[in-house]
Amino acid sequence: MTKCLIIGSGPAGYTAAIYASRANLKPIVIEGFQPGGQLTTTGEVENFPGYPEGITGSELMMDLRKQALRFGADIRAGKVEKVDFTQRPFKAWVDEENYIEAEAVIIATGAYARYLGLPDEKKYAGMGVSTCATCDGFFYRNRVVAVVGGGDSACEEATYLAGLAKKVYLIVRKPYLRASHVMQQRVMDNPKIEVLFNTNTVGLFGEEYVEGAHLVEYKGEPNERFFDIAIDGFFLAIGHKPNTEIFKGQIELDDEGYILTRGKSTATSVEGVFAAGDVADPVYQQAVSAAGAGCHAAIDLERYLNTK
Ligand code: NDP
Repeated sequence: MTKCLIIGSGPAGYTAAIYASRANLKPIVIEGFQPGGQLTTTGEVENFPGYPEGITGSELMMDLRKQALRFGADIRAGKVEKVDFTQRPFKAWVDEENYIEAEAVIIATGAYARYLGLPDEKKYAGMGVSTCATCDGFFYRNRVVAVVGGGDSACEEATYLAGLAKKVYLIVRKPYLRASHVMQQRVMDNPKIEVLFNTNTVGLFGEEYVEGAHLVEYKGEPNERFFDIAIDGFFLAIGHKPNTEIFKGQIELDDEGYILTRGKSTATSVEGVFAAGDVADPVYQQAVSAAGAGCHAAIDLERYLNTK
């Protein structure tokens, strides 16, 4: 039994833990299957305030974790498999074995990378298909890779990979990039990056590892054209999906599955349950905004407990 249960351990979860610990709420944090969250698969983080020289995503998360531990947060390994927010105290089952009862809950489960849904993505998982250029780019030094997507992530990944690979194809399904102007410019100015507009991926091929991709230009149009490119790596950067499967039917979600919060607060549709970070933020999805939301959630939760 705890006053404050925090589900998730990204910047939002750990920051909520720092604030809740310092408010003497003795929070329990369930870290999830990827302790530290998505940032642990990121290389250098240069835009988190307070690190003028930059810091690696893993180090940043270790620092946040240490800070939460310093104030007494009870951080536990494990994954929340099921919740019951219909009764009080709330219940959360961890790894199907134990459950925790909580007076109030902060959900900070983040989001995960989306796939195209091609069977070949599974077939070549770990054999040339990746969702994280900074994690896997090193394996593709002087090789040829493709990045799928036209947003900031895709442009960032393509630019990063161009620093390692011999050539980078950027596969964009529309006739334009959606990324911010500065990101687009970096891609366009990079001689190693070739942008394939109006192009979709149909499949991948290769003996054991990815050796190429089957593509289609102007899909479904009169000038439709099928062609192949030879690549060694296939990187997906087509956005994210929130980790809200276990909350379906328990709290209000939007059409994309992101948790809906009330006004400027982190309150969800269930009184006493709060949400912070990417799981409730389809717009900004930044470490610093997630950390800020974690702070807000802990303050909202403390006020809720005080007024109860
Ligand atoms: P976005 O949702 O912005 O972009 C997703 C891209 O993937 C779009 O170009 C989309 O195409 C494409 N896409 C989606 N589904 C498919 C599909 N099935 N087949 C082919 N292409 C597909 O996601 P991002 O991850 O790029 O960015 C998320 C947020 O994070 C944004 O707000 C972004 O600005 C921010 N961000 C900021 C960064 C920075 O400032 N350093 C770095 C990375 C992200 P279409 O345009 O046709 O819909």
